[in-house]
Amino acid sequence: MTTPTRVLVLNSGSSSVKYQLLDMRDDSRLAQGLVERIGEGTSRLVHTPLQGGGGRKREKNGPIADHAAALKAVAEELAADGLGLDSPELAAIGHRVVHGGLRFTQPTVIDEEVLAEIERLVPVAPLHNPANLTGIRTAMALRPDLPQVAVFDTAFHTTMPESAARYAIDVETADAHRIRRYGFHGTSHAYVSRETARLLGKEPEEVNVIVLHLGNGASASAVRGGRCVDTSMGLTPLEGLVMGTRSGDIDPAVTFHLKRVAGMSEDEIDVLLNKRSGLVGLCGDNDMREIRRRIDEGDERAALAFDIYVHRLKKYIGAYYAVLGRVDAVAFTAGVGENAAPVREAAIAGLEELGLAVDADLNAVRSDEARIISPVYARVAVAVVPTDEELEIARQSYALVLDEASSNE
Ligand code: ADP
Repeated sequence: MTTPTRVLVLNSGSSSVKYQLLDMRDDSRLAQGLVERIGEGTSRLVHTPLQGGGGRKREKNGPIADHAAALKAVAEELAADGLGLDSPELAAIGHRVVHGGLRFTQPTVIDEEVLAEIERLVPVAPLHNPANLTGIRTAMALRPDLPQVAVFDTAFHTTMPESAARYAIDVETADAHRIRRYGFHGTSHAYVSRETARLLGKEPEEVNVIVLHLGNGASASAVRGGRCVDTSMGLTPLEGLVMGTRSGDIDPAVTFHLKRVAGMSEDEIDVLLNKRSGLVGLCGDNDMREIRRRIDEGDERAALAFDIYVHRLKKYIGAYYAVLGRVDAVAFTAGVGENAAPVREAAIAGLEELGLAVDADLNAVRSDEARIISPVYARVAVAVVPTDEELEIARQSYALVLDEASSNE
Protein backbone atom coordinates (compact mmCIF):
# COMPACT_ATOMS: atom_id res chain seq x y z
CA MET A 1 0.00 0.00 0.00
CA THR A 2 1.23 3.49 -0.77
CA THR A 3 1.73 5.88 2.14
CA PRO A 4 -1.28 8.17 2.63
CA THR A 5 -0.34 11.82 2.06
CA ARG A 6 -3.44 13.89 2.76
CA VAL A 7 -4.16 15.81 5.94
CA LEU A 8 -7.47 17.41 6.87
CA VAL A 9 -7.02 20.48 9.08
CA LEU A 10 -9.94 21.44 11.31
CA ASN A 11 -10.31 24.67 13.24
CA SER A 12 -13.45 24.30 15.34
CA GLY A 13 -14.96 27.37 16.99
CA SER A 14 -18.07 27.54 19.15
CA SER A 15 -20.40 28.00 16.16
CA SER A 16 -18.08 27.46 13.21
CA VAL A 17 -15.71 24.96 11.61
CA LYS A 18 -13.00 26.00 9.16
CA TYR A 19 -11.28 23.27 7.20
CA GLN A 20 -8.61 22.62 4.60
CA LEU A 21 -7.55 19.40 2.93
CA LEU A 22 -3.89 19.36 1.94
CA ASP A 23 -1.64 16.98 0.04
CA MET A 24 1.67 16.84 1.86
CA ARG A 25 3.63 15.62 -1.17
CA ASP A 26 3.76 19.21 -2.40
CA ASP A 27 1.87 21.12 0.34
CA SER A 28 -0.91 21.75 -2.19
CA ARG A 29 -4.47 22.53 -1.12
CA LEU A 30 -7.14 20.21 -2.44
CA ALA A 31 -10.16 21.93 -0.89
CA GLN A 32 -11.09 24.42 1.78
CA GLY A 33 -14.21 25.75 3.36
CA LEU A 34 -16.14 27.01 6.30
CA VAL A 35 -19.34 26.16 8.16
CA GLU A 36 -20.79 29.13 10.02
CA ARG A 37 -23.63 29.70 12.48
CA ILE A 38 -23.82 26.06 13.54
CA GLY A 39 -26.94 25.52 15.67
CA GLU A 40 -28.38 28.92 14.78
CA GLY A 41 -31.18 28.00 12.37
CA THR A 42 -29.69 29.43 9.20
CA SER A 43 -26.25 27.89 8.96
CA ARG A 44 -24.03 28.37 5.95
CA LEU A 45 -21.47 26.08 4.37
CA VAL A 46 -19.05 27.46 1.81
CA HIS A 47 -16.86 24.90 0.09
CA THR A 48 -14.13 25.62 -2.47
CA PRO A 49 -12.55 22.81 -4.51
CA LEU A 50 -8.92 23.69 -5.22
CA GLN A 51 -7.35 20.72 -6.99
CA GLY A 52 -6.23 21.05 -10.60
CA GLY A 53 -6.73 24.79 -10.89
CA GLY A 54 -9.80 24.78 -8.64
CA GLY A 55 -13.51 24.58 -9.16
CA ARG A 56 -16.51 26.73 -8.43
CA LYS A 57 -17.24 27.74 -4.88
CA ARG A 58 -20.37 25.99 -3.56
CA GLU A 59 -22.58 27.54 -0.94
CA LYS A 60 -25.35 25.87 1.04
CA ASN A 61 -27.71 27.54 3.45
CA GLY A 62 -29.98 25.75 5.88
CA PRO A 63 -30.02 24.46 9.43
CA ILE A 64 -26.95 22.56 10.69
CA ALA A 65 -27.77 21.51 14.23
CA ASP A 66 -24.36 20.73 15.69
CA HIS A 67 -20.70 20.02 14.95
CA ALA A 68 -21.43 16.40 14.05
CA ALA A 69 -23.89 17.54 11.39
CA ALA A 70 -21.41 20.18 10.21
CA LEU A 71 -18.61 17.67 9.76
CA LYS A 72 -20.95 15.28 7.99
CA ALA A 73 -21.90 18.05 5.57
CA VAL A 74 -18.20 18.83 5.01
CA ALA A 75 -17.51 15.13 4.38
CA GLU A 76 -20.27 15.09 1.75
CA GLU A 77 -18.81 18.11 -0.05
CA LEU A 78 -15.36 16.54 -0.05
CA ALA A 79 -16.79 13.25 -1.29
CA ALA A 80 -18.49 15.09 -4.17
CA ASP A 81 -15.00 16.20 -5.27
CA GLY A 82 -13.66 12.64 -4.98
CA LEU A 83 -11.91 13.52 -1.70
CA GLY A 84 -14.07 11.58 0.75
CA LEU A 85 -12.92 11.23 4.34
CA ASP A 86 -13.09 7.45 3.98
CA SER A 87 -10.24 7.65 1.46
CA PRO A 88 -7.15 5.53 2.27
CA GLU A 89 -5.11 8.54 1.16
CA LEU A 90 -6.08 10.45 4.30
CA ALA A 91 -3.14 10.22 6.72
CA ALA A 92 -4.43 12.29 9.64
CA ILE A 93 -6.78 14.96 10.86
CA GLY A 94 -4.96 17.90 12.42
CA HIS A 95 -6.89 19.97 14.95
CA ARG A 96 -6.15 23.48 16.08
CA VAL A 97 -6.41 23.54 19.86
CA VAL A 98 -6.14 26.93 21.50
CA HIS A 99 -4.88 26.08 24.98
CA GLY A 100 -2.37 23.36 25.72
CA GLY A 101 -1.22 24.71 29.09
CA LEU A 102 2.30 23.75 30.12
CA ARG A 103 1.90 20.07 29.33
CA PHE A 104 1.61 20.25 25.54
CA THR A 105 4.84 21.61 24.13
CA GLN A 106 4.54 19.63 20.88
CA PRO A 107 1.84 18.42 18.51
CA THR A 108 0.26 15.38 20.10
CA VAL A 109 -1.66 12.34 18.86
CA ILE A 110 -5.02 12.50 20.60
CA ASP A 111 -6.23 9.72 22.88
CA GLU A 112 -8.62 9.68 25.83
CA GLU A 113 -5.95 10.91 28.20
CA VAL A 114 -5.09 13.86 25.93
CA LEU A 115 -8.80 14.71 25.64
CA ALA A 116 -9.07 14.72 29.43
CA GLU A 117 -6.11 17.09 29.72
CA ILE A 118 -7.56 19.51 27.12
CA GLU A 119 -10.78 19.36 29.14
CA ARG A 120 -8.85 20.12 32.33
CA LEU A 121 -7.64 23.34 30.69
CA VAL A 122 -11.18 24.63 30.02
CA PRO A 123 -11.08 27.02 33.04
CA VAL A 124 -8.16 28.91 31.43
CA ALA A 125 -9.68 28.82 27.90
CA PRO A 126 -13.45 28.81 28.51
CA LEU A 127 -14.39 30.07 25.04
CA HIS A 128 -12.05 28.00 22.92
CA ASN A 129 -11.14 24.63 24.36
CA PRO A 130 -14.75 23.33 24.64
CA ALA A 131 -15.33 24.10 20.95
CA ASN A 132 -12.03 22.48 19.99
CA LEU A 133 -12.97 19.40 22.01
CA THR A 134 -16.33 19.12 20.28
CA GLY A 135 -14.61 19.24 16.89
CA ILE A 136 -12.12 16.56 17.91
CA ARG A 137 -14.75 14.21 19.35
CA THR A 138 -16.86 14.58 16.22
CA ALA A 139 -13.93 13.82 13.93
CA MET A 140 -12.89 10.86 16.07
CA ALA A 141 -16.38 9.39 15.81
CA LEU A 142 -16.25 9.80 12.04
CA ARG A 143 -12.83 8.16 11.56
CA PRO A 144 -11.91 6.32 14.78
CA ASP A 145 -9.13 4.44 13.00
CA LEU A 146 -7.31 7.58 11.85
CA PRO A 147 -4.61 9.43 13.82
CA GLN A 148 -6.05 12.70 15.10
CA VAL A 149 -3.41 15.25 16.05
CA ALA A 150 -3.78 18.28 18.31
CA VAL A 151 -1.65 21.30 17.41
CA PHE A 152 -1.67 23.84 20.22
CA ASP A 153 -1.67 27.64 19.90
CA THR A 154 0.32 27.84 23.11
CA ALA A 155 2.98 25.22 22.29
CA PHE A 156 5.51 27.50 20.58
CA HIS A 157 5.54 29.75 23.65
CA THR A 158 6.33 27.05 26.20
CA THR A 159 10.04 27.84 25.71
CA MET A 160 9.56 31.25 27.35
CA PRO A 161 11.80 31.62 30.41
CA GLU A 162 10.07 31.98 33.79
CA SER A 163 11.17 35.64 33.86
CA ALA A 164 8.87 36.32 30.90
CA ALA A 165 6.13 33.80 31.67
CA ARG A 166 5.43 34.62 35.32
CA TYR A 167 3.31 37.49 36.49
CA ALA A 168 4.72 39.28 39.52
CA ILE A 169 1.97 38.11 41.84
CA ASP A 170 1.98 35.83 44.88
CA VAL A 171 3.54 32.58 43.70
CA GLU A 172 1.25 30.23 45.68
CA THR A 173 -1.90 31.89 44.36
CA ALA A 174 -0.56 31.90 40.81
CA ASP A 175 0.43 28.23 40.95
CA ALA A 176 -2.80 27.11 42.61
CA HIS A 177 -4.79 28.57 39.72
CA ARG A 178 -2.25 28.04 36.93
CA ILE A 179 -2.03 31.79 36.39
CA ARG A 180 0.89 32.62 34.11
CA ARG A 181 1.54 33.94 30.64
CA TYR A 182 0.89 31.20 28.05
CA GLY A 183 0.72 33.23 24.81
CA PHE A 184 -1.36 32.39 21.72
CA HIS A 185 -1.10 32.43 17.91
CA GLY A 186 1.93 30.17 18.46
CA THR A 187 1.43 28.21 15.24
CA SER A 188 1.61 31.47 13.31
CA HIS A 189 4.62 32.78 15.25
CA ALA A 190 6.43 29.48 14.66
CA TYR A 191 5.68 29.45 10.94
CA VAL A 192 6.43 33.12 10.33
CA SER A 193 9.69 33.17 12.32
CA ARG A 194 10.89 30.15 10.34
CA GLU A 195 9.81 31.61 6.99
CA THR A 196 11.55 34.87 7.90
CA ALA A 197 14.82 33.01 8.48
CA ARG A 198 14.34 31.36 5.11
CA LEU A 199 13.73 34.74 3.47
CA LEU A 200 17.06 35.90 4.92
CA GLY A 201 18.77 32.77 3.57
CA LYS A 202 19.53 31.57 7.12
CA GLU A 203 18.61 28.72 9.43
CA PRO A 204 16.06 29.53 12.18
CA GLU A 205 18.81 28.83 14.77
CA GLU A 206 20.90 31.66 13.33
CA VAL A 207 18.44 34.52 13.58
CA ASN A 208 16.56 36.64 16.11
CA VAL A 209 13.16 37.78 14.91
CA ILE A 210 10.37 39.99 16.24
CA VAL A 211 7.09 38.66 14.81
CA LEU A 212 4.07 40.98 14.72
CA HIS A 213 0.89 38.95 14.09
CA LEU A 214 -1.70 41.66 13.42
CA GLY A 215 -5.10 40.19 12.60
CA ASN A 216 -8.34 40.84 14.40
CA GLY A 217 -6.55 39.38 17.38
CA ALA A 218 -2.96 40.62 17.52
CA SER A 219 0.21 39.51 19.26
CA ALA A 220 3.95 40.08 19.12
CA SER A 221 6.70 37.63 19.89
CA ALA A 222 10.44 37.71 20.42
CA VAL A 223 12.07 34.65 18.85
CA ARG A 224 15.73 33.88 19.56
CA GLY A 225 17.31 31.26 17.34
CA GLY A 226 13.94 29.66 16.55
CA ARG A 227 12.73 29.60 20.17
CA CYS A 228 10.15 31.96 21.61
CA VAL A 229 11.52 33.99 24.54
CA ASP A 230 8.60 36.39 25.03
CA THR A 231 5.14 37.06 23.66
CA SER A 232 2.52 39.70 24.25
CA MET A 233 -0.59 37.62 25.02
CA GLY A 234 -0.83 36.18 28.50
CA LEU A 235 -3.15 33.96 30.54
CA THR A 236 -5.76 34.77 27.90
CA PRO A 237 -5.59 36.40 24.46
CA LEU A 238 -6.56 39.76 26.01
CA GLU A 239 -3.11 41.00 27.01
CA GLY A 240 -0.69 42.95 24.85
CA LEU A 241 -1.30 44.86 21.66
CA VAL A 242 -4.38 46.94 20.83
CA MET A 243 -6.61 44.61 18.77
CA GLY A 244 -9.75 44.82 16.67
CA THR A 245 -12.09 44.59 19.66
CA ARG A 246 -9.77 43.84 22.62
CA SER A 247 -8.04 46.41 24.80
CA GLY A 248 -4.69 44.65 25.15
CA ASP A 249 -2.59 45.89 28.10
CA ILE A 250 -4.52 47.78 30.72
CA ASP A 251 -4.00 48.62 34.39
CA PRO A 252 -5.74 45.68 36.15
CA ALA A 253 -7.16 48.20 38.63
CA VAL A 254 -9.38 49.52 35.83
CA THR A 255 -11.45 46.37 36.33
CA PHE A 256 -11.88 47.03 40.09
CA HIS A 257 -12.78 50.60 39.27
CA LEU A 258 -15.42 49.54 36.75
CA LYS A 259 -16.88 47.18 39.33
CA ARG A 260 -16.78 49.48 42.34
CA VAL A 261 -17.45 52.85 40.74
CA ALA A 262 -19.33 52.06 37.51
CA GLY A 263 -21.21 49.14 39.09
CA MET A 264 -20.41 46.76 36.23
CA SER A 265 -20.51 42.99 36.69
CA GLU A 266 -17.60 40.68 35.82
CA ASP A 267 -19.43 39.55 32.70
CA GLU A 268 -20.02 43.14 31.58
CA ILE A 269 -16.37 44.00 32.12
CA ASP A 270 -15.37 40.86 30.21
CA VAL A 271 -17.53 41.93 27.25
CA LEU A 272 -16.25 45.51 27.47
CA LEU A 273 -12.57 44.51 27.33
CA ASN A 274 -12.92 41.67 24.83
CA LYS A 275 -15.62 42.92 22.48
CA ARG A 276 -16.12 46.67 22.92
CA SER A 277 -12.52 47.85 23.23
CA GLY A 278 -9.49 48.06 20.95
CA LEU A 279 -10.05 49.78 17.62
CA VAL A 280 -13.82 49.25 17.74
CA GLY A 281 -14.06 50.82 21.19
CA LEU A 282 -11.88 53.74 20.20
CA CYS A 283 -13.54 54.66 16.92
CA GLY A 284 -16.42 52.27 16.17
CA ASP A 285 -14.59 50.33 13.44
CA ASN A 286 -12.23 47.40 13.71
CA ASP A 287 -11.39 47.01 10.04
CA MET A 288 -8.14 48.79 9.26
CA ARG A 289 -9.30 49.51 5.69
CA GLU A 290 -12.29 51.43 6.99
CA ILE A 291 -10.18 53.24 9.57
CA ARG A 292 -7.72 54.39 6.88
CA ARG A 293 -10.59 55.54 4.70
CA ARG A 294 -11.99 57.62 7.54
CA ILE A 295 -8.56 59.09 8.30
CA ASP A 296 -8.25 60.12 4.65
CA GLU A 297 -11.55 61.97 5.07
CA GLY A 298 -10.20 63.82 8.11
CA ASP A 299 -11.94 61.77 10.83
CA GLU A 300 -10.18 62.57 14.13
CA ARG A 301 -11.47 59.63 16.15
CA ALA A 302 -10.21 57.20 13.53
CA ALA A 303 -6.85 59.01 13.48
CA LEU A 304 -6.53 58.76 17.27
CA ALA A 305 -7.46 55.05 17.22
CA PHE A 306 -4.75 54.47 14.60
CA ASP A 307 -2.19 56.40 16.67
CA ILE A 308 -2.99 54.44 19.84
CA TYR A 309 -2.72 51.15 17.90
CA VAL A 310 0.65 52.11 16.42
CA HIS A 311 1.99 53.53 19.69
CA ARG A 312 1.42 50.20 21.46
CA LEU A 313 2.96 48.31 18.56
CA LYS A 314 6.06 50.49 18.65
CA LYS A 315 6.42 49.95 22.41
CA TYR A 316 6.47 46.18 21.88
CA ILE A 317 9.01 46.44 19.06
CA GLY A 318 11.26 48.42 21.41
CA ALA A 319 10.68 46.04 24.30
CA TYR A 320 11.44 42.93 22.26
CA TYR A 321 14.47 44.58 20.70
CA ALA A 322 15.79 45.03 24.22
CA VAL A 323 14.84 41.46 25.21
CA LEU A 324 16.66 40.01 22.19
CA GLY A 325 19.65 42.38 22.27
CA ARG A 326 20.33 41.73 18.61
CA VAL A 327 17.54 41.66 16.03
CA ASP A 328 17.90 40.33 12.48
CA ALA A 329 14.36 40.93 11.31
CA VAL A 330 10.98 42.36 12.21
CA ALA A 331 8.23 40.40 10.42
CA PHE A 332 4.69 41.65 9.87
CA THR A 333 1.95 39.09 9.33
CA ALA A 334 -1.87 38.37 9.34
CA GLY A 335 -4.64 40.59 7.89
CA VAL A 336 -3.35 43.97 9.04
CA GLY A 337 0.36 43.08 9.01
CA GLU A 338 0.23 41.69 5.48
CA ASN A 339 -2.00 44.36 3.96
CA ALA A 340 -1.85 47.64 5.84
CA ALA A 341 1.24 49.48 4.55
CA PRO A 342 0.45 52.60 6.66
CA VAL A 343 0.58 50.52 9.87
CA ARG A 344 3.98 49.09 8.92
CA GLU A 345 5.33 52.51 7.98
CA ALA A 346 4.10 54.19 11.17
CA ALA A 347 5.25 51.37 13.48
CA ILE A 348 8.82 51.49 12.14
CA ALA A 349 9.03 55.29 11.70
CA GLY A 350 11.65 56.94 13.90
CA LEU A 351 13.50 53.71 14.73
CA GLU A 352 16.49 54.40 12.43
CA GLU A 353 18.84 54.43 15.43
CA LEU A 354 17.86 50.79 15.99
CA GLY A 355 18.78 49.98 12.38
CA LEU A 356 15.11 49.83 11.38
CA ALA A 357 13.63 51.52 8.32
CA VAL A 358 10.96 50.91 5.68
CA ASP A 359 11.42 51.65 1.97
CA ALA A 360 8.26 53.46 0.84
CA ASP A 361 8.20 51.84 -2.62
CA LEU A 362 8.80 48.32 -1.34
CA ASN A 363 6.21 48.85 1.40
CA ALA A 364 3.60 49.87 -1.17
CA VAL A 365 3.97 46.65 -3.21
CA ARG A 366 0.98 44.30 -2.86
CA SER A 367 1.90 40.63 -3.00
CA ASP A 368 1.08 37.25 -1.46
CA GLU A 369 4.77 36.40 -1.29
CA ALA A 370 7.10 36.85 1.66
CA ARG A 371 9.20 39.93 0.99
CA ILE A 372 11.64 42.40 2.51
CA ILE A 373 10.46 46.02 2.70
CA SER A 374 13.49 47.64 4.33
CA PRO A 375 16.09 49.54 2.28
CA VAL A 376 19.28 47.66 1.37
CA TYR A 377 21.37 49.73 3.80
CA ALA A 378 19.22 48.90 6.85
CA ARG A 379 20.95 46.81 9.54
CA VAL A 380 17.73 44.98 10.43
CA ALA A 381 15.42 43.50 7.80
CA VAL A 382 11.77 44.49 7.93
CA ALA A 383 9.68 41.81 6.25
CA VAL A 384 6.11 41.01 5.29
CA VAL A 385 5.62 37.26 5.71
CA PRO A 386 2.13 35.87 5.01
CA THR A 387 1.14 33.43 7.71
CA ASP A 388 -0.30 30.00 6.95
CA GLU A 389 -1.54 28.34 10.12
CA GLU A 390 -3.34 25.55 8.25
CA LEU A 391 -0.19 24.52 6.38
CA GLU A 392 1.78 24.59 9.63
CA ILE A 393 -0.85 22.44 11.40
CA ALA A 394 -0.86 20.02 8.45
CA ARG A 395 2.95 19.80 8.39
CA GLN A 396 3.24 19.24 12.12
CA SER A 397 0.46 16.63 12.08
CA TYR A 398 1.92 14.79 9.11
CA ALA A 399 5.46 14.82 10.50
CA LEU A 400 4.19 13.35 13.76
CA VAL A 401 2.19 10.60 12.03
CA LEU A 402 5.17 9.62 9.84
CA ASP A 403 7.39 9.63 12.90
CA GLU A 404 5.04 7.37 14.86
CA ALA A 405 4.65 5.04 11.87
CA SER A 406 8.41 4.63 11.48
CA SER A 407 8.94 4.05 15.21
CA ASN A 408 6.25 1.35 15.15
CA GLU A 409 7.90 -0.52 12.30
P1 ADP B 1 -8.33 36.91 12.21
O1 ADP B 1 -7.65 37.32 13.49
O2 ADP B 1 -9.82 36.99 12.29
O3 ADP B 1 -7.78 35.65 11.59
P2 ADP B 1 -7.12 38.27 9.92
O4 ADP B 1 -5.70 37.91 10.11
O5 ADP B 1 -7.85 37.71 8.76
O6 ADP B 1 -7.96 38.10 11.25
O7 ADP B 1 -7.20 39.87 9.84
C1 ADP B 1 -8.41 40.53 9.68
C2 ADP B 1 -8.16 42.03 9.69
O8 ADP B 1 -7.19 42.38 8.71
C3 ADP B 1 -9.38 42.87 9.30
O9 ADP B 1 -10.19 43.15 10.42
C4 ADP B 1 -8.73 44.14 8.77
O10 ADP B 1 -8.53 45.06 9.83
C5 ADP B 1 -7.39 43.70 8.27
N1 ADP B 1 -7.27 43.74 6.81
C6 ADP B 1 -7.60 42.78 5.93
N2 ADP B 1 -7.35 43.18 4.67
C7 ADP B 1 -6.85 44.43 4.76
C8 ADP B 1 -6.38 45.40 3.80
N3 ADP B 1 -6.39 45.16 2.51
N4 ADP B 1 -5.92 46.57 4.27
C9 ADP B 1 -5.90 46.83 5.60
N5 ADP B 1 -6.31 45.97 6.54
C10 ADP B 1 -6.79 44.79 6.12
